[in-house]
This record gives sequence, structure tokens and C-alpha cells, in this order.
Amino acid sequence: MTTVGRHIEIRGIVQGVGFRPWVYRLATEEQVAGRVRNDTTGVTIEAFGPEEAVDLFMRRLEDSAPPAAAVSGIRSWAIPVEAAVGFSIVSSAFGPEPRVSIPPDLATCSECVAEVFDPANRRYRYPFTNCTNCGPRFTIAREVPYDRAATTMAAFRMCPACQREYEDPSDRRFHAQPNACPACGPRLAVLTPRGDQVACDDPIAHVAGALAAGRIVAVKGLGGFHLACDATSPEAVGRLRLRKRRDEKPFAVMVAGLAEAAALATIGPEEWRLLTSVERPIVLAMRRRESGLAEEVAPRSPLVGVMLPYTPLHHLLLAETGRPLVMTSGNLSEEPLAYRNDEALERLGGMADLFLLHDREIDARADDSVARVIAGRPVVLRRARGYVPRPVAVKPRFEAPVLACGGLLKNTVCIGEGDAAWLGPHVGDLENLETYRSFEESIARMEKFLRVAPAVIAYDLHPDYLSSRYALARPEQVKVGVQHHHAHVVSAMAEHGLPGPVIGVAYDGTGYGTDKTAWGGEVLVARHDRFERVATLRPLPLAGGDAAIRHPWRLALALLEDAFDLRPPLDGLRLFSEVPPEEVAVVRQMLATRFCSPLAHGAGRYFDGIGSLVLSRPDSRYEGQVALEWNGAADPTGRSRYGYAVDWTSSPWEIDLRQMTREVVRDLRAGVCAKAISARFHQTLVAATATVVWAAARLHGSMPVVLTGGCFQNALLAERLAGALVSEFSVHLHRHVPPGDGGLALGQAVVAAAIARGST
Ligand SMILES: [Zn+2]
Ligand SMILES: [Zn+2]
Ligand SMILES: [Zn+2]
Repeated sequence: MTTVGRHIEIRGIVQGVGFRPWVYRLATEEQVAGRVRNDTTGVTIEAFGPEEAVDLFMRRLEDSAPPAAAVSGIRSWAIPVEAAVGFSIVSSAFGPEPRVSIPPDLATCSECVAEVFDPANRRYRYPFTNCTNCGPRFTIAREVPYDRAATTMAAFRMCPACQREYEDPSDRRFHAQPNACPACGPRLAVLTPRGDQVACDDPIAHVAGALAAGRIVAVKGLGGFHLACDATSPEAVGRLRLRKRRDEKPFAVMVAGLAEAAALATIGPEEWRLLTSVERPIVLAMRRRESGLAEEVAPRSPLVGVMLPYTPLHHLLLAETGRPLVMTSGNLSEEPLAYRNDEALERLGGMADLFLLHDREIDARADDSVARVIAGRPVVLRRARGYVPRPVAVKPRFEAPVLACGGLLKNTVCIGEGDAAWLGPHVGDLENLETYRSFEESIARMEKFLRVAPAVIAYDLHPDYLSSRYALARPEQVKVGVQHHHAHVVSAMAEHGLPGPVIGVAYDGTGYGTDKTAWGGEVLVARHDRFERVATLRPLPLAGGDAAIRHPWRLALALLEDAFDLRPPLDGLRLFSEVPPEEVAVVRQMLATRFCSPLAHGAGRYFDGIGSLVLSRPDSRYEGQVALEWNGAADPTGRSRYGYAVDWTSSPWEIDLRQMTREVVRDLRAGVCAKAISARFHQTLVAATATVVWAAARLHGSMPVVLTGGCFQNALLAERLAGALVSEFSVHLHRHVPPGDGGLALGQAVVAAAIARGST
């Protein structure tokens, strides 16, 4: 029998997910000798044994993996045989090639949950229970490689019982870096907003009592603090809104299990899978009328964001309170999430009645992720906890490392290196100093974990974005400004490995165009390094700029002025009875003289304007509120549509929806319900878009189509447009990368790399 030796390298998410113990078990079962270790490239194995045994071992490595692992590649080659005895796990070594392999934070596994609820178990009611298949990872990592000493768990010394588990290859906690128990691990504490400790035997029972009594509690979680309250209590939720200064933007709700989730919202099989996935995002689903939730949780919204517990602390808290809890991010509106104890006490002191803290530090914040099922498949809308730092595979390879700084709203950053792109966690809207600091921290942490010194910096063309200014102030030589919608389209291309050209439909609120105007209803023929703007939506004047977005009645007025040749028939339209006549007169004057009324092509503005008109909603309390309600109003079975035109003589072609506006007014006057009008509106936009896509294909040749931009968070629009195109094109929607500005950085990175490659 021939004895052979093999060196095996496994890349991907293979650290902190029980990979080495799993390799150890396979090796022991196949009677292969050698060793396995983590290094900065992933996991490296040296295997020695009879040829058949090593072959079988290799095959099993290739065909299976632990549940939370994501293998992106295996390479192996023959090495000289060593007289190794047995198989061992050796401590980490640094390899030459820098690469992150810290896994994302993983929701508590069912075995750990069972232990926490088992009175006979030594971890009964222990809120920091975890194992190699679950627990904190990214948020506690300080350095790579991912080992306990490089995490915030380094401060806790394992007790003999935990140490035994940690060292026993047959144990579920073998090399579980955050392993802990009540004797040796982190502990809970209840504090008043002034920072005084509240004496209580059982912090969870104490806090559950406070929640049931209508109190607001700041709860330290995995990636930061939540503000929690009873989601069935209008008083509690109302108070939280007031204190958080958050008007109507929906709050996420955590429920104990699937049955409770199904009582609040329509949960199909895909929502079910998302809710129970190891990433545990907030899942947006249609709210049930009889949900039992306080109306204040998501006023007027057709959707509700639901999530299941993802730490033992959540499981215990939900079981103890026996009701759905609002779990919203612990911050004042627009500010980043609080994640350190002292910081939380300072920043949330005015919002929370009580604090549930613990002494395991969070190294970096990570918001809850948000996902939604669109066209039958899950789409990540906000990418943070649970998904970060899982890389996106990219072709062609990045020749030099790229840092992409993202956009202004829902900012994320991205580092591209080799064949992977790493999106950092959701940072938020870069509109205040705190968020900007968080943005800088996010970049620094990514650079540290990846050990990357970027050579190319990518940024949005908008000169006033803080992210663009940051990019321009960086010391690197090569900087590439990327047009906003080109970045959206290439983000979708990168996610699906499309080399281009593609026809990209990029519909969003706004983005800076190459002609310095606001784009946002764009159909592009795009390659990685360039694009042609084939068609755009007829622009609308935004009276007062951003004021028109906060007060979409101004957009409704602009639409009417445009559609009725400056003689808008305002009489009898309910919307305008809700706006003071003198304001209407002022805005009409602004529109007529184009005073402070920049033109914008954003598709989102049509949703805002027509929605405002039909629903008689003069104002938006948060970005996209009226558009969301307008989308939710649509009859999903409606198939009729309004008229539209395309100006084929202009360059780019202009999609002209003025006839639609006129027919909407006719329907409104005829008493047609909003449900039918909204369905026709959606169908019109779909038909008009499909028409220009077909025309683009006739002119430029048939090619794949990608749908991208914030408007494609709208499931009805995405599903209908994909449905209208699918017979002639391969149509791609986003999946793992947000369609909105949270996905922009990936596209920026790929565009910048392509342009930098071309210019050298
Ligand atoms: Zn577990
Ligand atoms: Zn212990
Ligand atoms: Zn955008």
C-alpha cells in the first residue's frame, strides 16, 4: 500500500465555524494522520496516510462542510511523506497572502437553545451560550486570524469545564473561541439611566417585568444596543417614538418563533427560510390586519419588519415576556448605533428607562440586516450583522486592491482584492459627524482585517458627498470617480458574474449624473469600464430641492403642471385641500420661474408625486414613506395600465409619463379606488421601461438585463418588470447585495478596477 502526503488549502468562511474540529473528525474516521491549522488564507491541512484513505478524506472535504462554513476554493498538492502519528489541530500561523476569514456572527443554534432552556444543563438560562456552530464572531474580533486571544473574549479565562470542551475534538465546543459558561463567562447587569446598578437576582426576569409594565429598555445585543419595548402597547411604542425622535419610520419587531411571526405577517416558505437562516435578518413582510401590534409600530406601512431571536439573551427575554417586542436600533434617529457600555449610557440615557448590559465588549457595531422576498427569492436590503464580512466573488480579479467609499445614504464601503470583494457593514446616512466617524472606523477595520493597503480609491461623482470628499483626501495616487447609476448596474453585474455588456435599468431617488444634473430613471448599456445612457425618465422640477422630497405634494404639483401645460386642474383634488393655498401659489410660482427648482430624473419621484396625489398625503415623514405606501396600495392582480410615450428623437430617449398623470386625474375624479390606480401606475412604468429595453436591444444587440437601484426594493415593480422581460432576456435582480445605495460600493470598486486596468 502506498503512503502519500498532501498539502490542502481551503479558502472561504472556514474559521470560527467549527471547520478544524470537523476536519479532525473526518481525518480520524478515515485514519489519516497529519495536522490542520487556521492561517490568514483560510485553513491549511497536511494529510498523510494510505493513498485510498487520503483520497477518501479529500473527497469528503470537497463534498461536505459544517453548516455555517462557506468554502470558496480548495487547492491541494503532493508533499513528501512524514511519519506523523495521529491527527492534530495546531495553533494559527500567518501565511504570506493576507485575506480575511473572520466569519459573520451566527444565530444561536438549536442545540445551544435547548441547553439554555434545560434546567439540568450547566448553561441553563445562560445568555452567552455558544458553540462552534453559533455565536458572536465579526463583532468581537479585534485581529486576524480569528482566535480567542484576538477577540474581546480574551478578557475571560475559561474555567476547567469550558477548557475541557474547548480541547476535546469530539465536543461541540472544540475550539469555539467565544466558549463560556456562568462560572467563567460574561455576565448581565441591570443599570438605571444614571448608571447605578439595580440589585436583582435574575436580570432577565427583572427586565421582562419592566417591559411588560411598558418601560423602554436598552438591551445590549451582538452588534450594538437595541431599544426594546412591548410591541402591543401603543403607549410604550408612542413614548419610544417621541424619545427617539422618530416620527413614523417603522420599528422592527422580534418574536419568539415562527408561529408568532406568522400571526403578525404573511410568511411564505421563502420568508420562513430567511427568518430561520443563520444570518437572522429582519424580514419585511406584509402586515396582517389583525396582528395585535400597536399601530404605532409601523404607522400606515403595508409592511412590518419581523425577526427571530438570534442570541440566547433574546430567546430568554422573548420567552419571559411572552409578547412581541419592538427591537429598534439604539440610537437617536439618524445617528449610528450605540455599542459600548459607557457610550450607550450617555447617548441612550434620555431614551431608556433601564439598561440591560453585559461585560463582553463589542469591537465594532453591526446593525441588524434587512431582507425581503422579491420575485420568489430573498434579497438583502441592508447588509450588516450575519452577512458581513462574507465576501462576494468577483471576476475578473482585482489586479490591485481597491477601496470604494460608497455613496451618501445607507453608506457601506467595499474593499476589492484578488477575486473577492468585501462589503463592510451598513454605516448609515453620512449626514452627521457621528456617522462619518463610523464610516472612517469601518474603513480602518476592514483594512486591518484584510491587511490591505488600497492602491485605487473609488468614489461617487457627487462632489458634496462626505464619502467623496474623504476619498479625494486620501493619500493614494489613483482615484476614480464613478457615476452613481453605472455603479448600481455594475454592482448587480458583479454579483451575478456578468462580464457585460448588459442593459441596466437603474431606478432610484437620485444620483449625480455626468452632466451634473440629478439622474435616477436610467436605462444604460453598461460594461465594467463604461456605459451609454440609452434612456431616461422625463425630469421633474423639485421645487425647493430636498423640500420637494419631504413634501411630495410639491412633486404632485410639478407633475400636474407638466402634464396639463401649466394649467393644472387643482379644483376638487383632495390633496390640495390639505395644503394652504398660499403655499400652493408660492410653489407654482417657483415652478413657473424655475426658481430653486432643479430638474431630477428620479423614478422614485414619480412614486412620491403620484402617491401623494392619489393618497392625499402631502408630506413624507421619512425618506420614501409615501412611495412605500403607494406601492403597498396596489392591487397585486391589476393588469390594466395608462398611456405613455417615448421621445425617440431625444438623446437619451425620454420616457414621458404625462399621459399617465392626466389619466390618473381622470380616474381620481371618476372615483376609481387608489388600489386600482396604483396597480395601473406600476403597470405603466413596467410597460414603458420594457419598451425602451426592447428598443435598446434592437439597437445594441440582445444582452442580459439587470434591475438595480432603490426602486427595486419594491417587489411589485421588480416582479412585474422581470416578468415582462423574461421571455426575451436573462433578467437579474440583486440577491446578496442591496439594490439600493447600500450596494453602490461594490459597483464602484469593480468600475474603478476596470478603469484603472484600462489606463495602465
Ligand atoms: Zn450552538
Ligand atoms: Zn466556563
Ligand atoms: Zn442610488
